Amino acid sequence: MPRRSRPARTSRRLGKQPPRYRFFLNPYSDARFTSCPKCGGKTRVRKLPLVIHVDPAHMIALNKTCKFCPYCDLLIAHQDEIEGFLAAYFGQNQPDVVGNDYLVLGTADRADWLRGMKKPLAPQEALEYLHDFRDYVQFEPPPRWVWVGPDKTGTPASSQVVEEDAAKDEA
Ligand SMILES: [Zn+2]
Repeated sequence: MPRRSRPARTSRRLGKQPPRYRFFLNPYSDARFTSCPKCGGKTRVRKLPLVIHVDPAHMIALNKTCKFCPYCDLLIAHQDEIEGFLAAYFGQNQPDVVGNDYLVLGTADRADWLRGMKKPLAPQEALEYLHDFRDYVQFEPPPRWVWVGPDKTGTPASSQVVEEDAAKDEA
């Protein structure tokens, strides 16, 4: 699924709740960010509902395990996992929507998400619960190999250790 280019910094706020988090939709399937790409600190795991708009007019909340750096207020979600969920969900419920553009709009409070699960939320109703992201950020991948000198073998950069994400509970 193509993702929309990130909205301009001046884009209008959609949600009625205060903005939260800098958001990084991680496109690198081999980087799971156990450490923060900004400050290098160890990231924590935070599970929270991501509110996703899918063209033309679908609004869904995905309870998703993300990486989070409290120091940078940086929330990281993996693009491949989100797209896998969208393809599976719409493939089953609304096949004509599969492949449409989507945009992760922000987060919702857990209580609001649980309430929303009892009946489908209309887009306008979902906006009542939505916390927009404060900002969208992107990172370039680090160099894959680091030159260490003529007498040593090159070793992979250790900053991005590939990690199996055990949490596959969002389906
Ligand atoms: Zn950080």
